[in-house]
Amino acid sequence: MESYASKFEGSNEGVIALHKSGTFNHNTADHRNAIDFDVELGNQSLSFTMSYADRYAKLSDLVPAARQLCNEIVDAAAQNETDQGQKIKCGKGCSNCCNYLVSLSSAEAFRINDEIFAMPVQKRHSFIHSMVNSTRHIINNTLPQELPGDEPSLASEEDRMLNISAWYGNLSLSCPFLIDRSCSIYDIRPLVCREHMVTTNPSACNFTSPAMPRIVDLPISIANVLMYTSDQLEGTMQEAVILPLTTFWTEENRDRAKRTWPAETLARTFIEIIQITASLNTSNSLPIIEQSQCSTQPSLEYAENNY
Ligand code: SF4
Repeated sequence: MESYASKFEGSNEGVIALHKSGTFNHNTADHRNAIDFDVELGNQSLSFTMSYADRYAKLSDLVPAARQLCNEIVDAAAQNETDQGQKIKCGKGCSNCCNYLVSLSSAEAFRINDEIFAMPVQKRHSFIHSMVNSTRHIINNTLPQELPGDEPSLASEEDRMLNISAWYGNLSLSCPFLIDRSCSIYDIRPLVCREHMVTTNPSACNFTSPAMPRIVDLPISIANVLMYTSDQLEGTMQEAVILPLTTFWTEENRDRAKRTWPAETLARTFIEIIQITASLNTSNSLPIIEQSQCSTQPSLEYAENNY
């Protein structure tokens, strides 16, 4: 698998980095500061160090560390399932979950957009072509604004998210990055894709299946932590971007993508939100997606004319 995760131009690669406990040498680190922190996972605790350079960084510079932390938590949760006699049934060739709605924080949307634009031209154009087709389909099918029998303002966040997920599932839209039943951006895939694991037959994940999959309940969702971090720093409210709209949404929010903070502020905010989220056990709270936050038409026209 070719890696696009660190190739993009003007990259601030490594400005914020995650290290497993004991692998960062505080004494020899050159011009880097570091914060040690623990993530409590029920019956176990994982220890990490987050290091950062003494310079400014973008929200998207948090994403490599977030991905690594997410992988560590997912691996620990999978091991915990194995220890309890369960088997993770997800694997290469199964793509039943790739027809569901995948949402990104603004940080992740900015990063994935950069990574797509770092790809060889043919691959990039092919992905953007698929994203244009998916986006056209999405904007032609209006997001439901009201829940049946309920005022939007009274609907619980969970009910509203279920309603949106059902709307998206009914679009029968495969992920634009799914090729031959495999994820073609596996090394840069979204955090929510990393966090989805089941212990039941994968066929239960099919949107049309009457069976309910048993989804592994993670003690903390780094996808949500990154979304809250982005909200906290940018002053937004549970903003999420639908994956196929990533490039067009980023085009419309170019100035936000370039905004910088001291790397220390980004690292400290991220760690603080990990601790708060872990203490509240809010891994299941889901972002509200407002299609109105993403008026994709102008960018869609631009993309159609240029790719
Ligand atoms: S990004 Fe990859 S894993 Fe995630 S939905 Fe798309 S194809 Fe599936």
